[in-house]
Amino acid sequence: MVYFIGAGPGDPELITLKGIKIIQACDVVIYAGSLVNKEILKYAKPKAEVYDSATMNLDEIIGLIVKSHKDGKDVARIHTGDPAIYGAIHEQIVRLKKENIDYEIIPGVSSFLAAASVLKKELTIPEITQTVIITRIGGRTVVPKEQELKDLSRHGATMAIFLSVQEIDRVVSELKKGYQENTPVAIVYKATWEDQVIVRGTLSDISQKVKSKGINKTAMILVGDFLKNIKAYSKLYDKEFSHSFRKKEDL
Ligand code: SAH
Repeated sequence: MVYFIGAGPGDPELITLKGIKIIQACDVVIYAGSLVNKEILKYAKPKAEVYDSATMNLDEIIGLIVKSHKDGKDVARIHTGDPAIYGAIHEQIVRLKKENIDYEIIPGVSSFLAAASVLKKELTIPEITQTVIITRIGGRTVVPKEQELKDLSRHGATMAIFLSVQEIDRVVSELKKGYQENTPVAIVYKATWEDQVIVRGTLSDISQKVKSKGINKTAMILVGDFLKNIKAYSKLYDKEFSHSFRKKEDL
C-alpha cells in the first residue's frame, strides 16, 4: 500500500496520530524536502529506506514507489501541510492508478490553518466573512482566467494565498482591484517552525514591510477584515437570536 501523509505545517507535533503510526509501519519513506520537518523521520523504522524527494523528479519518485510496491514494501509518501492543497499528488495518483497500485491519503494541518492559529484568529466571522478563498498567483503554473486574484478579490472574503510571497508587489496590485487599501494583511513565514515570522500591515504597506524582512518563500498571505480587531459579538450569539434562528449545525 502507498500512503500519502500530510506532515502538517512544521511543528512535528502537528502531524496526526494516524500519520505517525503509518510512518512507523512503512518500509520506505519518501518525504518532500525542506518543508517537512525532519523530526518526523525519527518515527521511521531503523531499517526503513528514507528518501528526500526534493532531489528526485516525478519519474524517479514513481519508479521508486512502483519498485517498492512490487517488492511487497509499504510506502509512506510524506507531504507538507495537507496533501490535497498544492501537494502535487494528482500527478502521482494518475500514475499509481495506471500501475494498479492502491493508495490512501492521510490528511494533515494545512499551513493556512496553522497561520490562522498563530495569529490567534478565526477565518470565518459571522457578518464579516463566511468564505475562505484558497488560491495563489499565476506564474509558471497557470491559474484559470476566471480565477485570477483580481477577480477573486471582488468578494471581500477571507483569502489565503499560497506560493506567492516572492511576487508580493503583483499580489498586492491585483488585490487592490477588489479590496479597499486599508484591508488588513498578515504574512506568516514558516508558521509553527522555530524561525516563524509574522508581518502585519494593510494592502498599502505590507509589500514594503515583508520585503524589508527579506521574506520571499515559505509564507502564507492572509487577507481580509477577519484580521481587524473586531470587538463586537455578532447578533448570532445573542440568546434570543440563537433560540429562534440559529440552527444546530451552525454551533
Ligand atoms: N500542502 C501544503 C502546501 C504546499 S505548497 C499545505 O497544505 O500547507 C507550499 C506553500 O505552502 C508555500 O509556498 C507557502 O505558501 C505555504 N506553506 C507551507 N508551509 C508553510 C508554513 N509553515 N508557513 C507558512 N506557509 C507555508
